Amino acid sequence: MDALRRTKIVATLGPATDDQDALVAMVRAGVDGVRINCSHGTRNDFIRRAWQARDAAATAGRHVAIMFDLQGPKIRLHEASRRADLDEGDEVRIVGDPKAKGATGSLVVDWPGVVEAAEPGTSELVIGDGAPRIAIAERAKGALMGTCVIPGIALPRKGAFLTHAQVGRMALTDKDREDVRTALDAGADFIALSFVNGADDIRELRGEILGSPARIIAKIETLSAIEHLEEIADAADALMVARGDLGVEAGVSRVPLLQKRIIQAANERGKMVITATQMLESMIAAPEPTRAEASDVANAVIDGTSCVMLSGETAVGRYPVETIQQMAAIALDAQDGVTPLIVEGGSREEGRTTGESVMRAAVLLAREIKAEALVIPTETGGSARAAARFRPRRPILALCSDAEVARHLALEWGVIPEPLHQRPEEPIDALVERSLRRAQERLGLPDGARVVLTSGPQVAAPGATSLIAVHRLGSAG
Ligand code: PGA
Ligand code: MN
Repeated sequence: MDALRRTKIVATLGPATDDQDALVAMVRAGVDGVRINCSHGTRNDFIRRAWQARDAAATAGRHVAIMFDLQGPKIRLHEASRRADLDEGDEVRIVGDPKAKGATGSLVVDWPGVVEAAEPGTSELVIGDGAPRIAIAERAKGALMGTCVIPGIALPRKGAFLTHAQVGRMALTDKDREDVRTALDAGADFIALSFVNGADDIRELRGEILGSPARIIAKIETLSAIEHLEEIADAADALMVARGDLGVEAGVSRVPLLQKRIIQAANERGKMVITATQMLESMIAAPEPTRAEASDVANAVIDGTSCVMLSGETAVGRYPVETIQQMAAIALDAQDGVTPLIVEGGSREEGRTTGESVMRAAVLLAREIKAEALVIPTETGGSARAAARFRPRRPILALCSDAEVARHLALEWGVIPEPLHQRPEEPIDALVERSLRRAQERLGLPDGARVVLTSGPQVAAPGATSLIAVHRLGSAG
């Protein structure tokens, strides 16, 4: 049964998922969240896709989180840039404006700030997926002078990337701000911020979405983000190991260990973390993944990721449904390799709230008495998240008082979200009774099965979980 898969799956939407039947089939196969990539498409596309995902989730009877992924300050070569076939050692002049002096003989980046942002001696301008690559040697008269270190052809409109860019350039562009408004209009559950440099970027986005329940995912894809990983992990609600651009900036060879570091930084804080990019890349064109890809997905699961993500595989691939099936199967088979983090040291004690300590005790209790499940009525989702951070081996059934919280929890490791409305006037006994009945139904547990249930002293009071009880299901109560 799919409910037993602990690692969640995020699928990027695109032309290949615009067919509603295909989308429903994908959701049925195990999609827990969809990503709307703001780098491609119009506001209308984004809103339409959000509604399609909502419809598909309702049809399939699953809670599906909706994520808007902001493009961030991705730069490109200007259309007026010259086409240059570069060999190793070639001298290259770079400007940030087609009207700059000497632009005709230069590579023109579509970003006037490029000359100031580069750090000569350290920065490199990377075109496309890594070639050509130009080491910046000096700044001279409004231009950058560099040397080609990896040969390739620089074509106008190609994506470009400046490594070690000096901040001062803002993470949120005007387009991002517009897309944030679209995301809020479309009721996004998560907003992912690209090319985060530090915690200030997160705070800026937080200011922008003030009053919305949307949660913020920091995409870790620059060396600056790696440098400020701890403070970013503290400031954001979740992290993404954005391996595509991280590989461009840090070098592909460093990605595997950086992935482990990023996942660990999230795990220590009990924050959700998504591992992304090229996970089942060959399935864009083939119905079966390579063994290396299966290993990659499995290893992300073992590293402790909360979610694995699909990009082109679902957005533009030929086999979006098969890709979800494969991903789900690999994640399910790999989860025995996940280390429970309940052991001391697995999850930071520092900064832990009382509620989190209560949940830790509940997880330990459930383990010791071999309970079938943790049953957690939750108003904000906080207590279910607090249980998930310890990676318990038993299902975490989160009984959510509203659908929005259920969608947030859909991406949380090991959490099964299930709506159960709490009524403020209801006595706590009645809520417990309803919760146990719902747990038995949802998890298909026999009479007599034992569960650990947590609650607060009052119904519908957020953030007050303080009681832990062992219950037997069925008539025995
Ligand atoms: P992107 O982010 O797909 O939006 O570029 C993910 C990554 O860089 O891996
Ligand atoms: Mn990226």
